Amino acid sequence: MSHETKELTMHIVDRNPQVSGDHIVYRTDFGCSLLPAIESCVEVGLHSECRSAMKEALHHFSQVDGCPECLPQCNDQATTDSVNAAVLAAVTISNL
Ligand SMILES: [Zn+2]
Repeated sequence: MSHETKELTMHIVDRNPQVSGDHIVYRTDFGCSLLPAIESCVEVGLHSECRSAMKEALHHFSQVDGCPECLPQCNDQATTDSVNAAVLAAVTISNL
């Protein structure tokens, strides 16, 4: 991975919470299969990494989480057990 450029990506947060109460944050340049309808989302602006997007999303909703597909580094499981979650995500993606 020699891709060092910090490109800014538009991030959005779902207005509709999950059963857990979390509002999921997505990046729009990933082609994420879990992306909700754009009209049910709020823009959280351009960010080069998910942590700042999550912070911004917290201005809109008190409970947020990163999408496990396009923002696995900011997904709940990843923050509680980053190594295992990263491995799980890699396995999940390679099995798709
Ligand atoms: Zn996603």
